[in-house]
Amino acid sequence: MSNRSRDNMQFTVELMRRGAVMLKEPCPICNGVQIKYKGKTHCTAHEDLSRILSEKEVTYGDVAASLKDMLLSKMKESMALLEIEKDPVKQDQLITFMAKSVDLLNKLEAAAKGS
Ligand SMILES: [Zn+2]
Repeated sequence: MSNRSRDNMQFTVELMRRGAVMLKEPCPICNGVQIKYKGKTHCTAHEDLSRILSEKEVTYGDVAASLKDMLLSKMKESMALLEIEKDPVKQDQLITFMAKSVDLLNKLEAAAKGS
């Protein structure tokens, strides 16, 4: 038994606990057991159910925080690249990326203050 199917069994239990129902029809792709959760049909055999679970648990604050972290480290990378970049086109791309990142960071900050 693969890790995925073992994990999926636990995830299926968790999804059922949250109101998912088991369907009679088997998966048309792999013949696995299907469940219906929040109006969508999912296969418990071949789909990555952890994604469905994490999707529902994600909050705006979590996403904003990790997006901020990611942008900051990307900006740091871009800065290092820009320092050694000789091609003006690539320099421009890096600067545009950083400008957009700053813009997005400002929006995230504003949204965080607003809540
Ligand atoms: Zn399937």
